[in-house]
Amino acid sequence: MIKRGTEEWKTFISRLDQIKTKSNREVLCIKCWQMLNCKQKIKHLKAFDHKSYLLTSTQYASEMKISELAQGYNKLVTKADGSEYIISPFTPVNLPQLNKSEIDTKLEDGTHSDQHDTPPGTKR
Ligand SMILES: [Zn+2]
Repeated sequence: MIKRGTEEWKTFISRLDQIKTKSNREVLCIKCWQMLNCKQKIKHLKAFDHKSYLLTSTQYASEMKISELAQGYNKLVTKADGSEYIISPFTPVNLPQLNKSEIDTKLEDGTHSDQHDTPPGTKR
């Protein structure tokens, strides 16, 4: 989970912001709380009937929107001390690259740094 106001949170929000600048934008399945790129989306819709749960970046990609969505779908946790935590819809980055598809790997490329001079997934 990501605590609001931390560096991790800022990275998370800037990652959302970056999605809006890309041509192949991820969609968010609010049912699964999972960010999906183009290929993942196609696979996802084959596997699940979640078309009506998919949100485009204009619907989720801002701090306010993602917070509201998270709240609405119980992905935002408020602790007794008032601190808020959001469950990241992005695929965890610390997994070893076992049998994961390279699609997932690409999705995770931009997470560990803020540089966006070479965004992943731009090659066609
Ligand atoms: Zn889904």
